[in-house]
Amino acid sequence: MLVGNIRVEPVIDGEFSLDAKQWYPNVSEDALAKHPRWFGPGGTFTMTVGGFLVRTGARLALVDCGIGPYLPDEDNGGKFLDDLRSKGVAPEDITDVLFTHLHFDHVGWATQKGTVVFANARYRCDAADWEWFMANEEGARRKLAPIAGRLETWSGSATVLPGIDALPTYGHTPGHAAFAISSGDERAYLLGDAAHCPVELEDIEWDGISDVDPVAARRARDEVARMLEAEGARAAGAHFPGLEFGRLMRLGGEAAWTV
Ligand SMILES: [Zn+2]
Repeated sequence: MLVGNIRVEPVIDGEFSLDAKQWYPNVSEDALAKHPRWFGPGGTFTMTVGGFLVRTGARLALVDCGIGPYLPDEDNGGKFLDDLRSKGVAPEDITDVLFTHLHFDHVGWATQKGTVVFANARYRCDAADWEWFMANEEGARRKLAPIAGRLETWSGSATVLPGIDALPTYGHTPGHAAFAISSGDERAYLLGDAAHCPVELEDIEWDGISDVDPVAARRARDEVARMLEAEGARAAGAHFPGLEFGRLMRLGGEAAWTV
């Protein structure tokens, strides 16, 4: 997909299924059944994992880098580097890795067995996320220790690369960022986990279970939804089906995600 002169492509690592009733404990079975587009029979909720390759000027940036080769169904995960290579990009070509946040399903390929995977890249995230994960998550400390010397952080709203701005959307994690990709008069958004499924943008009351601060996360999601609807801009979440881009429109008075 082109945003002005910037090319943005999904990089798929795999997908896994959850029970939607567990992920959305406050949502009734009737409400789930009204959304067959997002939830399969019996309330199966399939999340894609991966990231996005962003080619901006001479930079080859990744926004998030999947879960790594750990999905229970091996046929359905661990494909991130293969998908990257299919786009003509080797790990050593990556110049920058931007993290929306530091949950394990976004940093999976940052390191493998203690070795930095994208050997020539600078790694970047919001300082608040780095501080929180290093203080609270042993798994993140171990996974990310090898990149500590290559890390650059920002705080809040910041231009992190040419054409890529971080939008603080704190709540899912303390330093969670969405990214605005801008070129010419075009703009698109990478939402990270500000919403895990488009239904959360259609109806702000759908709270998932994985937010560090659920009240702040809902506020951030609401702001993102209103911004997307007002701008009519394309956007994709880090777990939307197939990492496909869509737009939040208002159809017959109801917010509707259209691809
Ligand atoms: Zn996630």
